[in-house]
Amino acid sequence: MMQPTASASEVDVASRNLDALDLGASNGALHIDGTEAGTMAIYDSPSSIFAPWQDRLRHAAIILLVAALALSVTVALGELTLVRACAVFISIAAAAMVPWRLHDAATSREDVRGVNPVETAAVSAVVAGMPDPAVLLDRAGRVIHLNAAAAQLAPALRKNELAQFALRSPEIITALREAIASSEPRRATYLDHVPVDRWMELIITPVPVPTLFGGTDKCMLMTFHDQTPLRRVEEMRADFVANASHELRTPLAALSGFIDTLQGPAKEDARARERFLGIMHTQATRMARLIDDLLSLSRVELSAHVRPDTQIDIVPIVHQVVDGLEALASERQVEIDMDLPETPVTIAGDREELLRLFENLIENALKYGASGGRVIVSLTPGAAGGEGAQEIRIMVRDFGPGIAPEHLPRLTERFYRVDVGDSRNQGGTGLGLSLVKHILNRHRGRLLIESVPNNGATFTACFPQPKTLLPAQS
Ligand code: ADP
Repeated sequence: MMQPTASASEVDVASRNLDALDLGASNGALHIDGTEAGTMAIYDSPSSIFAPWQDRLRHAAIILLVAALALSVTVALGELTLVRACAVFISIAAAAMVPWRLHDAATSREDVRGVNPVETAAVSAVVAGMPDPAVLLDRAGRVIHLNAAAAQLAPALRKNELAQFALRSPEIITALREAIASSEPRRATYLDHVPVDRWMELIITPVPVPTLFGGTDKCMLMTFHDQTPLRRVEEMRADFVANASHELRTPLAALSGFIDTLQGPAKEDARARERFLGIMHTQATRMARLIDDLLSLSRVELSAHVRPDTQIDIVPIVHQVVDGLEALASERQVEIDMDLPETPVTIAGDREELLRLFENLIENALKYGASGGRVIVSLTPGAAGGEGAQEIRIMVRDFGPGIAPEHLPRLTERFYRVDVGDSRNQGGTGLGLSLVKHILNRHRGRLLIESVPNNGATFTACFPQPKTLLPAQS
């Protein structure tokens, strides 16, 4: 019964020997440092003869001590001369220090493995418990442990096989080679294409693991980190700064141009001065509005994780916004129909932010949907939302040209505009809907946008219905 297992073990050992030899040939650095190569050899029979003499001495210490005692007693009793006793002791010491493993022959390979600290269940559990993909390699780059996340990232990784064979990216292979050769930490960033494109960072850290006899075995821990979200944020930040400065530069250039004209050629021209001052006023208002929107956006973002907790009735807020936009509505010849309940509709909200939200939606409807001549603002409490939850919905519908479907998913991006020229003419900054989305996120709500080209657009702000309202405190 035992026979087949023993031979299987031998095959395993033999194949590992071959791997070790292959690597030795391909990477000379492994053999330069005899001590370190020897440290690994304690567990791998092929290189066991290079075990450091300190380890062997510690291993043979008891034998040598007992032999020395026995020989001293024999010499003391006069049964052996000192010279012969010394010769016998040297022979025993030499035999004990010879790094053959006759006694290990009786021990199966599994037994040896069982006591290898690197291969213990504790080390395996630590690797398995790491949140990111993690692989522990021996000095030769052979996989000792890997966690589920690593197996998912690189399904070709196998225990006891060289990691280089499973990780194809040239950046990883170079970093791994360098880490093996230098025993120094290495980092590499690469683009992974499967299953989706993502930027990964690989960190290789040498980990000294104690050996059985008090030495250390240098293993390597490879961890992978998904850098894609970070890169996206970085790209968005760069885009944002570029867009914001571009948006500010345009009115600024107009202003300085007109100032030059007014100081120079049009100095004495009263009519031109009147006209230019009007344009300058518009540009200055545009800049002020942009800065205002940028500040509001950053304020909402800063408090994004803090949910508002003041109980607010939304009905008077909508009334206040519509009253404030009456002038714009009559200027654009648009009629605003309101369908709001008589009774209060309360949510946990931030008053200023809610005013900003409805102002943006209704103002957009008046500006971009003016040709429809009519805007409906309605409020539905208790509408059925996603996953069976109840929602309070405030709908702003216009009957203007609507929005082509390809633009709908991008409308809430900062500075995204369907028609840049039209938006600028209307005094738009391209930040309104982005602000609306952020305010709704903070209120744990959502924005629905529906549009049929040539038949208007509907923007609906949905707020979660409060479960039970606390009774008013007396
Ligand atoms: P802006 O300051 O340009 O109005 P917004 O973020 O509020 O920025 O809106 C982004 C773009 O969405 C607008 O430039 C416009 O092209 C489009 N849009 C918004 N509301 C409407 C609407 N009711 N009808 C048609 N297009 C709209």
